[in-house]
Amino acid sequence: MIMGNQNDSTGKSSLLKGNISADFDAIVIGSGISGGWAVKELTEKGLKTLLVERGRNVVHLKDYPTTNYNPWDLPHRGAVPLVLQEEYNTVRNHYSFKEDTIQFFLKDAQQEYVADKPFDWIRGNQVGGRSLLWARFTQRWSDFDFEGPLRDGFAVDWPIRYKDIAPWYSYVEKFAGISGNRDGLDTLPDGEFLPAFEMTCIEKHFKEKMDQRYKDRHVIVGRSANLTQPQPIHFEQGRGKCQNRDLCSRGCPFGGYFSSNSSTIPWAQKTGNLTLLTDSVVQSVLFDERLNKATGIRVIDTKTKQQTEYTAKIIFVNAGAINTNLLLLNSTSGRFPNGLGNDNGILGTHIGFHNYRGRVEGTYDGLKEFTTDGRRPGSGYMPRFRNVYKQETDFLRGYSVSIHSNRSQKTNQEGIGKALKTQLETPATLGNWSIAVQMMGETIPKKENQVKLDDTKKDVNGLPVLHISVDYDDNDIKMLEDFHEQFSVMFKEAGFDNIKTTDNHRRPGNENHEMGGVRMGHDAATSLLNKWNQLHHCKNVFVTDGGCMTSTSTQNPSLTYMALTARAVDYAVTHLKNGEIK
Ligand SMILES: Cc1cc2nc3c(=O)[nH]c(=O)nc-3n(C[C@H](O)[C@H](O)[C@H](O)COP(=O)(O)OP(=O)(O)OC[C@H]3O[C@@H](n4cnc5c(N)ncnc54)[C@H](O)[C@@H]3O)c2cc1C
Ligand code: SF4
Repeated sequence: MIMGNQNDSTGKSSLLKGNISADFDAIVIGSGISGGWAVKELTEKGLKTLLVERGRNVVHLKDYPTTNYNPWDLPHRGAVPLVLQEEYNTVRNHYSFKEDTIQFFLKDAQQEYVADKPFDWIRGNQVGGRSLLWARFTQRWSDFDFEGPLRDGFAVDWPIRYKDIAPWYSYVEKFAGISGNRDGLDTLPDGEFLPAFEMTCIEKHFKEKMDQRYKDRHVIVGRSANLTQPQPIHFEQGRGKCQNRDLCSRGCPFGGYFSSNSSTIPWAQKTGNLTLLTDSVVQSVLFDERLNKATGIRVIDTKTKQQTEYTAKIIFVNAGAINTNLLLLNSTSGRFPNGLGNDNGILGTHIGFHNYRGRVEGTYDGLKEFTTDGRRPGSGYMPRFRNVYKQETDFLRGYSVSIHSNRSQKTNQEGIGKALKTQLETPATLGNWSIAVQMMGETIPKKENQVKLDDTKKDVNGLPVLHISVDYDDNDIKMLEDFHEQFSVMFKEAGFDNIKTTDNHRRPGNENHEMGGVRMGHDAATSLLNKWNQLHHCKNVFVTDGGCMTSTSTQNPSLTYMALTARAVDYAVTHLKNGEIK
């Protein structure tokens, strides 16, 4: 379906139907977090832009069917019936896959893949991609991250440093709206923040104990893309203040959190320069050997299976890291028989992810005079402290943690009417505080962690089925053990009881932070993209989603995709206008 405007299903469709090629200044493939930023920037700079999305349209406010449901409005009280779980086998154990969010997840049959080793490929194939579902943690990366590969001798050196991206972090933070404190930590640079959410009293207690004991273990509140105090730029987007409902992944009726649907895509539509094409999967990027550049894309209508070609001067590939790898591997030509830009054969290799296997929990027999009041759409956070200033362990890199706390209820549920209500509300029935930390470990991108195309098998849209071979290694296991050990000690020092460590054996991919395969680097022999996210060997194609990432850091990645995208568009448009990109 083609739309000149997201709410308009007629728009320019008559111009583009059938086999007639349509010409644009720019094409963006994928409408998730990074694709949304690409279209915002391109259309604002005056480029007629086609946004192609394989999934259905999801219009902000209109297409959030469960957003105002009460618990009793859900037929199964939030649980997904078993028969449906089977259709959504890949995501059935994911924490955010529930009856109220199921509409934003993908059934296995909609895009098959083969996991050569256990891997959960979590996708949101719709307008907005996974920006509808994300947990909104938005931490900047520091030079401890960008310098990591060079310093510790793995992967290749990032072609950029913090100073190159810092202004672009500020740029996207101001528009998206990020809440947080200026904590002054060199591992976690400060940004352009709206007021932070408050820490719970047990997080404050943990912080106090850690500050007394350590110089480098900082308990802070997580930075998140929720509007705690909207600014004029957010009202201009039609967004309002976050109401702390903590129901964000249903889609927010206030536009309280950042998503492509609530923010960047409608903003691009207002310029009049955006054409949105939904239910249309890009099969390949077309390369013209005579002109030595990409000329456009071939698209398959997912309903009719009809193929159409669209042309443009520049192409941004933002299909989500793994789909981007698939698409480039499938974009073959006489010049690039192994995939677009893939002269060195490393496209699809060095896939990274985050190690979420560890959890430590405990209880606290104190602070009984406090309870939780309302909700908070985020959590506490402790940035990486291992191997920062020197190598101090037998594994490379480190981990950050998110911190979750609540006061359990031991409710006397006997009785009826007023007596029962009083019992349910009586603080005396509350149990001890419980606290848990969830690790987010940096993995080392390795050649053998890779994706490739099946030689013969195709999916429902006729695209090759992808083989994903990604696994943990010894470094990840040593890191997990260290995390368990360190937090058991820290919890004890904080006076917590019933300390329990868990290895949840979470599969790679389940954490949603898959990265790499089209990595950036200085050298065309060992990387696919230069420092501007531009293919070394095909200068009018840019990759700014997780595919471009050279290493994985211990910070959540999406803020970095957004900043890299805005930066790359600025470069691309400048060089298009001055004739250096033809
Ligand atoms: C539950 C959950 C929690 C998360 N929490 C966080 C967090 O706290 N912080 C954080 O930084 N990240 C988080 N993430 C990850 C974050 O959502 C992703 O990193 C981010 O959405 C990736 O952006 P993207 O643009 O690369 O891809 P996506 O947002 O996945 O969008 C890709 C889009 O491309 C489309 N597409 C794919 N292939 C094609 C094709 N061939 N043709 C046309 N269209 C195509 C897809 O349908 C999709 O709409 C979370 C994700 C989930 C699901
Ligand atoms: S917590 Fe805030 S952003 Fe999330 S759904 Fe509620 S109001 Fe919206």
